Amino acid sequence: SIPLGFFGGIGGASSQGILVKGGNYLEALNQVDTIIFDKTGTLTKGIFRVSHLLPQEGIDEANLLEMAALVESQSTHPISVSIQKAWGGNTAAHQVEAVRETPGKGVEALVDGQQIKAGNAAFLMEAGINAPQVAESGTLVHVVREDQLMGSLVISDEMRPGVRETMEGLRRAGIKRLVMLTGDREMIARQVGDAAGISEIYAELLPQDKVTITEKIMAEQTGKRKVMVVGDGINDAPVLARADVGAAMGGLGSDAAIEAADVVIMDDEPARLITALKIARRTRLIVW
Ligand code: ADP
Ligand code: MG
Repeated sequence: SIPLGFFGGIGGASSQGILVKGGNYLEALNQVDTIIFDKTGTLTKGIFRVSHLLPQEGIDEANLLEMAALVESQSTHPISVSIQKAWGGNTAAHQVEAVRETPGKGVEALVDGQQIKAGNAAFLMEAGINAPQVAESGTLVHVVREDQLMGSLVISDEMRPGVRETMEGLRRAGIKRLVMLTGDREMIARQVGDAAGISEIYAELLPQDKVTITEKIMAEQTGKRKVMVVGDGINDAPVLARADVGAAMGGLGSDAAIEAADVVIMDDEPARLITALKIARRTRLIVW
């Protein structure tokens, strides 16, 4: 039987925009002392904008953008959405076939009969192509046509407001360890980590690496201390499912993530986590 206090706690949480999927998660929340954040869409807004086009010699900017947009035309990744938006063209006049998306890396397809790839440095490496050095700050999408680099797109995201204050609030609420995971490159991870006040960061990860690191951190916990993972759900449903408590951003999050999550933050506001911890602690007082 579930103690009555849990119902009060869940009701209290839901009136604050936090959906908790059962009393056992409220109890687990109360024991959380480590929070692992996914970067994109969680600490940042996950709303990307193409800021620079860097074509290789002899390639036209418009052509670079169009190839990127076409190869990405069936992807729902926020990076892809930003490229579609920057392009603004119509896919109807083109043939996009044999689309294959690799989570955490990129996408490839036959576009008007040509083999096109768009993705990060690791994705290029698989095709034996070295990624160009780029000075601009941002997430990079390199575009390759028939094994020739066409150029790179620089894409930027923004921090969610108040993230630093939220991290401070979480520490005050008893969180001892704050961690950030990302598939993005090290340089961007550092910038976001610095702005958020999180020093333990792991970058250039594939979705399965996020699970491995989470398991390692969970194994390091002592006593009954629990680990919460907070994600937006784009590529992070596996890690949300693996954590003691998985929390998803409800607004941006994919249906898969909301399903995999134990806690859903309805309005995507990271500060809700502080409220959730406080409610869990108060509920415990009622129950015990
Ligand atoms: P995060 O870990 O920051 O939430 P993801 O795991 O979704 O990000 O993606 C990690 C990286 O993989 C991105 O920063 C990007 O470099 C690359 N990537 C993933 N999906 C795509 C895509 N559809 N197009 C281009 N690059 C992609
Ligand atoms: Mg993500």
